[in-house]
Amino acid sequence: MTPPRIGVFALQGDVREHLLALAAAGAQAAPVRRPAELAGVDGLVLPGGESTTMIKLARAFELLEPLRERIAEGLPVYGSCAGMILLADRVDAGGSPLEATLGGLDITVRRNAFGRQVDSFEEDLEVDGVAGAPVRAVFIRAPWVQEVGPAATPLATTAAGHVVAVRQGPLLATSFHPEVTGDIRVHEMFTRIVAGR
Ligand code: GLN
Repeated sequence: MTPPRIGVFALQGDVREHLLALAAAGAQAAPVRRPAELAGVDGLVLPGGESTTMIKLARAFELLEPLRERIAEGLPVYGSCAGMILLADRVDAGGSPLEATLGGLDITVRRNAFGRQVDSFEEDLEVDGVAGAPVRAVFIRAPWVQEVGPAATPLATTAAGHVVAVRQGPLLATSFHPEVTGDIRVHEMFTRIVAGR
């Protein structure tokens, strides 16, 4: 079977780690910086970074509308951290505002939600769809899901009760960064979604 072609949005964020994790998960991974590159992928990862900057760069590189169109057509997309914010239909007014998102996921996110407690922390989490041992979840100035709309399903919740992973059909999002731990099971789950397995 040909491996699915999965792009990583590569205008800002931790691109290299996602490319490595996707390749290890059996995908054909490539950076996406231009509309023609986006057109050539079967799935896309939106990495962590700074969501405000990523939206500005997507617009400047003429990727904003093509991204919205492909998401509307059913492109599988996995958003981690800032990527989760970009996929959210709504950003909570209590967090820092954002001019726009790509949308697609029926969730409300709160940016920098853990910020006042701790900027970065780790926690072992059970994630639906990831078999075996818990996932070591690394949170870096992370959002949480303030509200899960009826179209989305929560996949993981922290001990404190905050939803930090969701799925809605071909769209997957985590508040945490699985690409930094060497555990590729979340990327394997996304690769299965892209391959339709
Ligand atoms: N705090 C960032 C934002 O709001 C996300 C941080 C990250 O992706 N690690 O966009």
